[in-house]
Formats: sequence, structure tokens, C-alpha cells
Amino acid sequence: RLTIAEAVAVRALSHPDRVALRELGGRSLTYSEAWRRILALAAPLGDVPAGPHGRMVGLLLPNGADAALAYLACQVAGVTAVPLNSRLAEPELAFILDDSGAGLVLTDGPLAAVAGRVAGARRVIATSDLPTPETAERPLLGEGGRGEAPAAIAYTSGTTGLPKGAIWSNDHFLVQIMRWGWEFGLTADTVMLVPGPLFHLSYCGLTLGALCMGARADIMPAFDPAAALEAFCSDAAFAFLVPAMTGAILEEWAARGEPDLAAARFIISSGAPGPLAMTQRAMRMFRHARVAEAYGWTEGGWCTFEVKDPATLLAHSVGWPTFGNEVQVFDADGEPAPPGEPGEVGVKSLTHFGGYLGRPEATEAAWHRGYAMSGDIGIWQPDGRLCIVDRKKDMIITGGENVYTAEVERILHDHPQVLEAAVVGLPDERWGERVCAMVVIRDAGLDPAELAAFCRRNLAAYKVPKQIEIRPELPRNSMGKVQKFRIVEALSETG
Ligand code: ATP
Repeated sequence: RLTIAEAVAVRALSHPDRVALRELGGRSLTYSEAWRRILALAAPLGDVPAGPHGRMVGLLLPNGADAALAYLACQVAGVTAVPLNSRLAEPELAFILDDSGAGLVLTDGPLAAVAGRVAGARRVIATSDLPTPETAERPLLGEGGRGEAPAAIAYTSGTTGLPKGAIWSNDHFLVQIMRWGWEFGLTADTVMLVPGPLFHLSYCGLTLGALCMGARADIMPAFDPAAALEAFCSDAAFAFLVPAMTGAILEEWAARGEPDLAAARFIISSGAPGPLAMTQRAMRMFRHARVAEAYGWTEGGWCTFEVKDPATLLAHSVGWPTFGNEVQVFDADGEPAPPGEPGEVGVKSLTHFGGYLGRPEATEAAWHRGYAMSGDIGIWQPDGRLCIVDRKKDMIITGGENVYTAEVERILHDHPQVLEAAVVGLPDERWGERVCAMVVIRDAGLDPAELAAFCRRNLAAYKVPKQIEIRPELPRNSMGKVQKFRIVEALSETG
């Protein structure tokens, strides 16, 4: 079976001088250079000591070419990559290194000091100390990690307990990438903008997918809406954006007098629910592009997809199952739910995860009837689309009634003054839980009471937030996702 690294090696042979990777504001690497860089990064990985789960290498790297190529270096060396979220606190990083049993850490730049502090007795290597060879001694592989062997371990963010390492096999990675390439129409001519962190497997997988296709990936050292806008005006055709990024790009676009984003051809929104109004504005901004929604989760892989069509726009829709996936919605009794009835989404797929590292019980609990379960509440539509209305843990039960936070957020977003809104449940003696909201508004001067009145006109009384707090911003994680547990903490203090 082919590996991603071999696909890149083939590109280095067939198109050595094409640009493979660009660091925005930094260096560029041709395919030949990228392949030699992979070999340079792989060189010290040959003698990584094995831990309880095999030979693991922690990656604590700034967003750039090495962060993408280090995954392939691990594949070449036959070791497993453990990407580390550079925004985590040092005890969290140390926990992941210990939990995975990583035997070595690859790092660079300002993160090297952090790596040195969290690595304990492990070897720490700065990638800039690894010179790129002038010639490739190994034009093709023939060994290295492949098949069921774990390619990477994706750690959950740990909002519901200690982080768990979800295992991604080499085959899983390869199939995921092939599906992306196929469905997103990536070709050797595609210029992909990579606006997010490569320690996240979506961004890493898409970047590696671009390399497999012989395309060019432009990596941002950190997300910057102005630079993204410029890229879409000049040559970036494809990007995967989380709603927080789309929102920031929209603001920048409006502030600059709505320039023509002439290069953008295919924009994928994913990672978190995005309000319908934002999708509509994005379709106007990316008017030369197809704007699509993709849905999935670390353990389930990429599950559903929809190219947005103004004629059939539907709030909360994440589209139809992608090929190779069997998506189900299971009701409270664990039975398949018919259209219109909410339940938990699960997937049986070629790309779901291979369990949590060293956690048989958590692994067992992540499945139902052979489906990897998402923790998301979905509803089938009569036309076969799936709507995601909430995360199971975020759904509010107030006075015995279920309230899906996405529905209340949608109404809040409909108010012209509201920029962002997040709804949570707070413990309540009388109701069990009460509906509360944190909102960001466009201009000062909106009274929360006015917003509550607006909700009362559009929602059943039990769904109307009993407490609405206006804040300058919502708490978000490194992927731009709203952290509801932090909103609960903040509102509990003021409520
Ligand atoms: P944790 O590590 O705490 O599990 P997480 O669940 O946010 O964090 P991911 O697996 O990256 O980590 O995120 C997947 C989740 O993101 C999905 O379960 C879903 O709730 C949400 N999500 C992803 N894509 C979409 C989408 N297109 N629309 C709505 N929600 C989405």
C-alpha cells in the first residue's frame, strides 16, 4: 500500500521544481526540496526508543513547512507522530508526552524552550539544526509506516476529562486525503491557503493532501484575516475555514470596501456551527467560489458535505454523507431515528479512528453498534441532509423541555445588532437548568432586555434566555471554537 510520503516522493521525481510549500512571509520549498527536507527531518528518528504504545515522536513546531513535513518524516522513519497543540499549558504538554510515551520531541523557534522544559529526560531536537541534504539518497521508500500502523495520535482537547489520544492509522490518513482530494477537486494547479494550525489533523491532512496532488500549499504562521484576504485576491483558490475565521475575513472585507476575491474557487466551512447569515454573507464575498460545509469529528473522520446553493439553504444543515461513510442518527433508545427526530450521530466508515491510546474503556464507550459516536445531536431532513442542532453535552433541559442551543443562537444571530452568540445551560433550582446567553454586539447601546424581547417574539418562552450578557468577545480555543465550559464559568460568577 502506498503512503502519503511516497506520493510526495513521486512528485519530487516527476515535478522536482514545482513549488510545494510556501510559508507566508517566509521560505518556499519545491517538491525536490520538500522531499529532501522530509529525509532530513526523518534522519534522527531512526533510533527513537519505543514506549508502551510503540515508537512515538512529539511534534511541537511553529506553523510552517517543517510542521507539515514532520508527519511525513515520521512515516518515512516508521514512527508515530504526536502533534502537540502549542497553545497548551506546559503541564498539559507534559501529560500528553507521558501519556503517549513519546521518546523524542521535534521542535523549533521559540517553542524549543517550552519543549526543553516539558520533555523531561527525552531528547529534544530543533529542526533548524537538521541540514537539508543536497541530494536525496532515497528517491523512493519501500519501508516506513503503512497500513494499520498508527500514523498520528490526535489528542482531544480534554474539555470533558483528561485528553485522550485518538489513533489515526496510515490507511485512515490516506483514505481521508484521497476523499478530500476527490471531492474538493484538488489538482496540481490548486493553490491551497492553510490558515490554521498544523497540529490539528484537519489542517495537516489537507496540507498533505495538497502535496499528494502536486499542488501548492501556502501556510500562514498564524491566522491573519488581512493576509487571507490578500491571498484570495491574488492566487489562493482553496481554503478550509472555521466560522471564526470566516467572520474575521468578512469584517476585514467590509472594512476594505469589499474587494473582489478573484482567485477563490472553493471554500470549505467546518469545525463548528456557523450561522446562516454568515454563510449568506460568505457566499456574497466568495462570489467566484463554491462555498461548502463539511462536518466531522476527530474520532469519526469527515462524514458529511454540502456545496451551498442559495435555493436550498437550510439552517444547521451539514449536508449529505460522503462516500465511504454510513451515517446514522440514534434516538434515546439507541435505535435508528427517522427523519425529523433528533438523536446522536454515529458513523461507520473507512476513516474512523482506531481507538484511544491505552484506554480500552473510553474506546469501548465511543462506539454503538459498530458506529463511532459523535456526541452531536443530529436530525435527518426529508431530502437526506443532516442538521446538527447541538452537542449532547451542551443541550439544555429546562423544566423537562429539551432546548437545542443552536436554535436559540440562530435567533440571537438574526438580530441585526448581534455579531456572535453562544447559549449555555446553568444549574437552576427551579428549572433544573436555565437558558443563558453570552453575545458580542456590533455597536454599544443594545440593551439585553431588548434582545430578550426579540427572543420572546421568535421563540417558545422556555427557550428564551433568562440571562443575557454582552461581552467584547467569546472565549475560543486554538481552532476558533467557542469554549462553552468557560462561558458557564463566567456566567455562573455574574449570574
Ligand atoms: P474535543 O477534543 O473536546 O472533543 P472537539 O470535539 O471540538 O473537541 P473535534 O473533533 O475537532 O474536537 O470537533 C468536532 C466537533 O465540531 C463535532 O463533533 C461538532 O460538534 C463540531 N463540528 C464540526 N464540523 C461542524 C459543522 N460543519 N457544523 C457544526 N458543527 C460542526
